[in-house]
Amino acid sequence: MPYPQELKELIKVVEKTRPERVAKKKKNEEVPFLSLEERKKILDYHPDFKEEGRREIKVGPSKGYRIAHEMVDVLEANSRVNPDLVDLSHADYETDVLVIGGGGAGTSAALLAQEQGAKVIIATKLRHGDANTMMAEGGIQAATKGWKDSPYYHYLDVMGGGHFKNIPDLVDTLVTEAPDAILWMEKHGCNFSKFQDGTLKTLHGGGTCRKRMHFAADITGVEIMRTIRDEARNRSQDIRVIEFSPAVELILNEKGECSGALLYNMETEEYFIVKAKAVIMATGGSGRLHIQNFMTTNHYGATADGIVIAYRAGVGISFLHTVQYHPTGVVFPEQAEGILITEKFRGSGANLVNIDGQQFVNEREPRDLEAAAIIKECVEKGKGVPAPTGKFGIWLDSPMIDALSGTGTVEKEFPGKFILYKRFGIDISKEPMLIYPTLHYQNGGLEFKNTGETALPGLFVAGEVGGGIHGENRLMGNSLLDILVFGRIAGKNAADYAKSRSDMGKLTLDHVRTYHKNLEEAGIETDRVAPMLLPDYTLPHVKERQLTACYVGTLR
Ligand SMILES: Cc1cc2nc3c(=O)[nH]c(=O)nc-3n(C[C@H](O)[C@H](O)[C@H](O)COP(=O)(O)OP(=O)(O)OC[C@H]3O[C@@H](n4cnc5c(N)ncnc54)[C@H](O)[C@@H]3O)c2cc1C
Repeated sequence: MPYPQELKELIKVVEKTRPERVAKKKKNEEVPFLSLEERKKILDYHPDFKEEGRREIKVGPSKGYRIAHEMVDVLEANSRVNPDLVDLSHADYETDVLVIGGGGAGTSAALLAQEQGAKVIIATKLRHGDANTMMAEGGIQAATKGWKDSPYYHYLDVMGGGHFKNIPDLVDTLVTEAPDAILWMEKHGCNFSKFQDGTLKTLHGGGTCRKRMHFAADITGVEIMRTIRDEARNRSQDIRVIEFSPAVELILNEKGECSGALLYNMETEEYFIVKAKAVIMATGGSGRLHIQNFMTTNHYGATADGIVIAYRAGVGISFLHTVQYHPTGVVFPEQAEGILITEKFRGSGANLVNIDGQQFVNEREPRDLEAAAIIKECVEKGKGVPAPTGKFGIWLDSPMIDALSGTGTVEKEFPGKFILYKRFGIDISKEPMLIYPTLHYQNGGLEFKNTGETALPGLFVAGEVGGGIHGENRLMGNSLLDILVFGRIAGKNAADYAKSRSDMGKLTLDHVRTYHKNLEEAGIETDRVAPMLLPDYTLPHVKERQLTACYVGTLR
């Protein structure tokens, strides 16, 4: 749907202030960055700072930790299976390494495990590549430009962005391995955007002191996922991919070692067992929990499953008290609600402006501050732009990019979004975009070391499901990096672990029984079932007409 007349009138205000703002940009005159004092104050508007939005979890290894209600709900839930009914005496598949999750972290882990000589199974919920990785747009950080940048500066940026709460070892590994991760991608044929002379193009992202954001137009995730998925598919003798088969529980042995997983075939609705010498959890994030009712950028399968099943098996969680709301998600047209508008628009010169066409925040603040500033502008100052849906937004003035860098730049540099908006009859090189913060990234997750290991022997972690790298706030471009760096580390170390393991012992789901008992003892009586697998958007009146006897989300 194109902008209705009311919005077109408001766009005229933005057009009026644009020439002056463009002139300022050309002279590098920016709205000043927030002082430390101002930062503290503005964060009160960030959803993470709403105490009523969270509660203590009452069971499990991180008992007492206060996190979002929606996350506690899935953690304080029953298993999808009755362990007494699962026959663990035979396995349907046996492998060295089982990778749970077919996104970027899982696929790069599978490649490295295979290179170490392991037989690998990737079990994934939807199709291979249906994942947040595929949706990433803006880019991937790495200090590849040695004469201007170094892992040292990258380290400081990551720590600063995460409010210095990050786990230093994880950050150290992330930034040190970063240039090699880019080289590895290039070697496998990833088409990053380049200058005529073949050098890699790099941009700033929020919170970076150097231009180290590598990108492939505005479809960086597609290009990364295409590259590694092709590579994995070409190694089909050693890497088997099982699609539409989410893991619903980990399987341990009597010594408490992770020894495989129970999977659910979404087509036949049967459960089956994969026995594995090592398991890598790479199930990604949790945007589809819609914390505090926020819209989300995440793919349909981002429902925190890996956290739920690993937590039940004894792995603690950290940094889940913070959630990343991307400052710029589509708020109108309604059909695209929640979809991410990459930071690269701001990096390329687009201002954020209120209903009066006024800039109110520097566009290169870290994401949490930027999101808080937008919420404040709409909620407290009443300077938001009313969308026809009743929601409010802020203008992201994309036509400034053509004004700064030449006609056609928006179309060339942002083909994904240009085409998306064109379908609605909006030309974003001429009209600004209406945006609002959208639930984007799970800053925290399962506790793990920089070797990928967890507290559960035999279970490794990689990607968004892990917590600690980004501290309390991730900077743009460090997650695509995280999945490649830690995916590769987990893959290699899991394969080594598998080699060292001879005796698989007797398989058991006793930890699930214990967890159920703990829930009971904590007085939690619930019919909630997790992992959720798919979000449930069915309206109550529709559910009433459905004949399903026992309703568990969209699945029985
Ligand atoms: C719209 C968008 C734009 C982004 N842009 C950027 C960017 O520019 N730069 C950046 O660094 N980061 C970006 N990110 C973040 C980044 O893309 C992700 O954090 C990262 O790709 C996550 O990779 P992953 O492999 O950990 O998870 P995913 O890529 O989400 O993969 C997880 C996989 O696990 C599967 N799965 C889930 N549950 C189960 C289960 N129970 N059993 C089996 N499989 C399961 C999922 O279906 C999926 O295939 C963006 C994210 C989004 C949503």
